[in-house]
Amino acid sequence: MSDSEASKEWFQRATRCIPGGVSSPVRAFRAVGGEPIVFARGNGPELTDVDGRRFLDFVGSWGPLILGHAHPEVVEAVCDASRHGTTFGAPCRAEIELAELVVDSYPGIEAVRFVSSGTEATMSAIRLARGVTGRDRIIKFAGCYHGHADHLLVAAGSGLTTFGQPDSAGVPANFASLTQVLDLDDEDSLEATFSREGDQIAAVIVEPVPANHGLLVQRREFLESLREQTRKYGALLIFDEVISGFRLGPDGAAGRYEITPDLVTFGKVIGGGLPVGAFAGRRDLMDVLAPDGPVYQAGTLSGNPVAMAAGLATLRVLEASNGWRQLERLGHELEIRLRPLLEAAPLPVQLVRQGSIFWLCMQGGPAPRSPQQFDPNAADRYRLMFHSLLERDIYLAPSAFEVGFLSLAHQESHLDELAVALEQALGEAAENV
Ligand SMILES: *Cc1c(COP(=O)(O)O)cnc(C)c1O
Repeated sequence: MSDSEASKEWFQRATRCIPGGVSSPVRAFRAVGGEPIVFARGNGPELTDVDGRRFLDFVGSWGPLILGHAHPEVVEAVCDASRHGTTFGAPCRAEIELAELVVDSYPGIEAVRFVSSGTEATMSAIRLARGVTGRDRIIKFAGCYHGHADHLLVAAGSGLTTFGQPDSAGVPANFASLTQVLDLDDEDSLEATFSREGDQIAAVIVEPVPANHGLLVQRREFLESLREQTRKYGALLIFDEVISGFRLGPDGAAGRYEITPDLVTFGKVIGGGLPVGAFAGRRDLMDVLAPDGPVYQAGTLSGNPVAMAAGLATLRVLEASNGWRQLERLGHELEIRLRPLLEAAPLPVQLVRQGSIFWLCMQGGPAPRSPQQFDPNAADRYRLMFHSLLERDIYLAPSAFEVGFLSLAHQESHLDELAVALEQALGEAAENV
């Protein structure tokens, strides 16, 4: 495209000095083909690339930007905090205020520790669970992403119970074998696993609203069975709410399902666009962390005043504006606009939604609850639709299995824009499949 010269030149430069030209692999467009766009600015619901071309953004930096880009109150909080010092390596007020807010918002949580990413949060929560229980094994579910720590980069294929097969080179098989991968939506294999080796399992970690391999909304009974089995066998239940925490509401998926985990991890929204993660739990569990207990965990920039200020400003805007209710309403409006056109679309596609998280699932029939139920042609259809939308200045995630996010910066007019572009893009994609 002749109007994206500068973006192409910048990306060429990136490929010479950054692996794949990107700082995180999903950004590389490998799942859809083509080249990533190099952006210059974000403002509200819009991204502007280095050529000055504007896109309506539904990626929201993969989840954090619940208020949209460069929200004035967040920018103000960041500038103000920076002027007073970017890091102290010591306690600061914003950190304590954000901790109080988390503890007051989320059920069953009495203490929280801040880190700098979701990966660190889940990694630390697993270490804590192992330290508390004195057990080594953990259970995760195929299709759930918990960051890229070694023991969590295991997502083995289908099958009733697959013993850990590393998903990434560089993860020792011995290490991965401590992670048992089970299928979502399957209480039987969970119960069978616990009855076999429940006394060795430190924790079950799950995204209660799995949103990293499509949006795989679970049955309440399945999540309840996780709570029951972990309790019965003395294992801990970890809700990874890095996406859902403070996005579905202040009490996250735990509030939505009325199920209280033992430990919870946060990231994305809680940092308001700056690098923040957190893990939290009951006092008796969190007190096992250093300096009071034997489980070590630390971070030079953890709880730094600038990042804490961005998170705090974001959560305060959400609270003050009844943001979560607005986002739910916006999600409903999206559904109203898309449902008829998706039903009439010339190829199979449906909208799956939880609050302000949505997924354009490129298959018909019931919405999948586990990756085993995916249509193998879905990714191809998505690729075609993705590029047609991009040509119409709509920016969705460059993968069929990544979700989209609404923010408080999106207006109903933006949903109309998406609907119009989507109808055309689906028509175009259908001609090319
Ligand atoms: C994004 C994500 C992570 C990892 O967070 P990073 O900040 O990218 O390290 C962990 N768990 C879930 C559920 C996520 O969506």
